[in-house]
Amino acid sequence: MSSSTHQPAGQVSGLEGLDDARVVVIGAGQAGLAVSHELSELGVGHVVLERARVGQTWRNLWDSFCLVTPNWTMSLPGFPYAGVDPEGFVPRDEIVGYLERYASSFDAPIREGVGVDALESGLTGRFLLRTSAGDMEAESVVVCTGAFQRPYRPDAAAMFPPGLLVIDAEGYRNPAALPPGQVLVIGSGQTGCQISEELHEAGREVFLACGRAPWVPRQPDGRDIVSWLRETTFLDMPVDALPSPAARLGANVQVTGARGGHDLHYRTLQTLGVKLLGRLTGVEGHRARFADDLADSVAFGDARYADIRAMFSNQLAAKGMAVPDLPDPPPFCADPPRELDLGGFGVVICTTGFRPDYARWVRFPVVDAMGFPLTHNCASTVVPGLFFCGVHFLRKRKSSTLFGVGEDAAIVAQSIARNRSQLAAAD
Ligand SMILES: Cc1cc2nc3c(=O)[nH]c(=O)nc-3n(C[C@H](O)[C@H](O)[C@H](O)COP(=O)(O)OP(=O)(O)OC[C@H]3O[C@@H](n4cnc5c(N)ncnc54)[C@H](O)[C@@H]3O)c2cc1C
Repeated sequence: MSSSTHQPAGQVSGLEGLDDARVVVIGAGQAGLAVSHELSELGVGHVVLERARVGQTWRNLWDSFCLVTPNWTMSLPGFPYAGVDPEGFVPRDEIVGYLERYASSFDAPIREGVGVDALESGLTGRFLLRTSAGDMEAESVVVCTGAFQRPYRPDAAAMFPPGLLVIDAEGYRNPAALPPGQVLVIGSGQTGCQISEELHEAGREVFLACGRAPWVPRQPDGRDIVSWLRETTFLDMPVDALPSPAARLGANVQVTGARGGHDLHYRTLQTLGVKLLGRLTGVEGHRARFADDLADSVAFGDARYADIRAMFSNQLAAKGMAVPDLPDPPPFCADPPRELDLGGFGVVICTTGFRPDYARWVRFPVVDAMGFPLTHNCASTVVPGLFFCGVHFLRKRKSSTLFGVGEDAAIVAQSIARNRSQLAAAD
């Protein structure tokens, strides 16, 4: 470990005793923990640096959040779901509890409260990590800092009048914590739909500016949709089968695990009384403007639903399985306003997705134009010894999920172990 430029003299270092940590994993969410588990299984010494606490991203979600994929998906390597409700949806704190128990189950070597501020080139080809607790060096680094990193806001969101509170989903806790008044939610992915429903049920008048998102019914023929999808190639779809790299930024499927799980999409929200709008296009003074594209967005969601129906018909039938009954959606009718007077609004909530954040602190040219790491089998194709795990669509559609990250974590750990034995053999 090199001498620290960050650590005030006399304080206990979060890096104490780490002189021989040749492998550093950054982040203790499910990806960092899964990599740590797989490294431990292979006997590779390492440390996990976590700037906050284990499972911090889940801790940051709103109070009523429930898992969206069913409970059986909490199945990290060596720690399958052991509860009694595999098709239920545990609340936020139970997801965190699962991750904490996972970390304890193999005594994961985690240093909480140690953030990595920069990852640079160190001496003699090693990595230099500038952390909140001092600097350290490593031979291999696995970046597991989150699938969904930096909240993204459309340009128009910068134009709201001063005095109108504008927050991201991260800033949302519960309806009572918001100022009174009407609510404008921008973005109709999973998060926007769930927050809109909760606020509507709390008696708020909610307007939802919609974009394009796929939707699915929660429980076709009484079985969870994710359990059906697991029977197909959907979750294993490789990143290079996407229509374009930008498709990685597309919205997740509209559905919810709240209150036991139920359908939640454009039509259910409209029936509830949430006021659906087109995309936000601009704000001028106290007037917000919206595109005339709501019907197109719903048609996009319907087309993805049709894709899933066709996939079920082909793939489930080929396996000799019964194909669930998925009826045609009813016609969608709406005549949304193109303008809103923001006078009565208490808050705007942006749920317009995320962008990668690596370029801000990883001081190597290792990302593409959108900020996603350039990788093959989770290894950087630019810098040897650098790995990524938990990135959305890193290898497959499931790469960033609780049930998919383990496959990538095993690949990372095996690559590191292989590199180390090759180095040892060459010595
Ligand atoms: C609203 C929402 C709902 C979701 N629901 C589901 C679901 O139902 N099922 C499912 O399978 N997936 C779901 N996901 C997707 C995914 O499982 C989560 O995003 C998950 O948290 C990703 O795990 P991760 O370990 O890759 O990243 P994270 O959980 O984000 O963990 C990254 C960790 O790294 C730490 N960190 C970040 N930067 C640094 C740094 N520089 N130094 C040190 N530490 C750092 C963070 O504090 C954090 O603890 C959901 C995602 C969102 C946003």
